[in-house]
Amino acid sequence: MNLEIDRGRLLSEIENLAHISDAEPPAVTRIVFTATDLKAREWLKAHCEEAGLRVRQDAIGNTFARWTGSNPAAPAVGTGSHIDAIPNAGKYDGVVGVLGGLEAIRALQRSGFRPKHSVELLVFTSEEPTRFGIGCLGSRLLSGTLSPDDARKLIDKNGASVDNVRHQAGMSGDLDSVKLPPGCYKAFVELHIEQGPVLERRAIPLGVVTKIAAPASARITIEGQGGHAGGVLMPGRHDALCAAAEVILSIENAARSTGAADTVATVGMCDVFPGAVNSIPSRVRLSLDARDTDLARRDAVMQAIENVCRETSVKRQVQVQTELLNADSPADSAAEVVEALSRSCEKHQLNFLPMVSRAYHDSLFMSRIAPVAMLFIPCHNGYSHRPDEYASPEDIARGTLILAETFTALSA
Ligand SMILES: [Zn+2]
Repeated sequence: MNLEIDRGRLLSEIENLAHISDAEPPAVTRIVFTATDLKAREWLKAHCEEAGLRVRQDAIGNTFARWTGSNPAAPAVGTGSHIDAIPNAGKYDGVVGVLGGLEAIRALQRSGFRPKHSVELLVFTSEEPTRFGIGCLGSRLLSGTLSPDDARKLIDKNGASVDNVRHQAGMSGDLDSVKLPPGCYKAFVELHIEQGPVLERRAIPLGVVTKIAAPASARITIEGQGGHAGGVLMPGRHDALCAAAEVILSIENAARSTGAADTVATVGMCDVFPGAVNSIPSRVRLSLDARDTDLARRDAVMQAIENVCRETSVKRQVQVQTELLNADSPADSAAEVVEALSRSCEKHQLNFLPMVSRAYHDSLFMSRIAPVAMLFIPCHNGYSHRPDEYASPEDIARGTLILAETFTALSA
């Protein structure tokens, strides 16, 4: 069997998809269920159909493009990722796994390979949390990690609910129908850019992910007392932003003090109200993102942060409210899928690094219903979620080749 990746076609497809965007190139912005996202979905669907794949969409817009195997009743081998992009992002995050997955299927078709198990490309809705504040909306629902009732409560910044927005975007059906039972997939493999610098620094072309870190996120709201910046003297103040500053530094300290390199915590958003130079901040909203490969350690950090919030509230006489948005467990890759990926690398005499994924992906949730593993390719300087995100044509083609090779083992 001669597996050949059509690199030119794959790269031009990545370019073409990058131009379906709400940002000026090279930046990419594609927020879920916007006109741009819908246009990208149509574009992709046409490409999948052109490859002879059977395409269906579920009620949340997860897309499934299936190459039916000789035993259609057998569980499928899944692959895929996402095509939504945060504001001002790059063109490779998620997309490499989707278009690479499609090209891997086409390469197998060209080689004359006939799978016994169907091979299915999955494109998950809203991996990025931009619109509804929660990442991996599609794969959470698909895997039963998020209940349809909890999904219905999510709203975007204009107050529009998930149901509202998806109906407007033409997704019909009930959210209860999205969840898939375990056993639908024999294996799931996601190709992705590393989004970190390790592979490039060590000059290793591929990473095989053995574990995905456990993410948790929360919204912290601090209510103090506003007032005139000249009129209210210092002893009488309950400045919400000053309290927030203490909370932010304590969050940094909580993550540092575990002593483990795998513990990270970040405050990436800070909304100050009313936001005027001559007005004491009365309300501040912070985002909190904490991750670790060790669940107990991650939860201990979250608890420490909760304690700090309480202490700050008493000390500064402000109200501090924490609202947990998600607290997920880490995932271990399935030994048999890691093995299949490793063998494929060896077959092509490619060096690979077993590694931990510190970013989370749809694979984290797919792991609840299927044996999963991920394949990483290097990205320049580890840059991601920015317009200068870059993966080389060689690395993209190499990852796609290994993905195709792995399908031959898993789908036979
Ligand atoms: Zn991604």
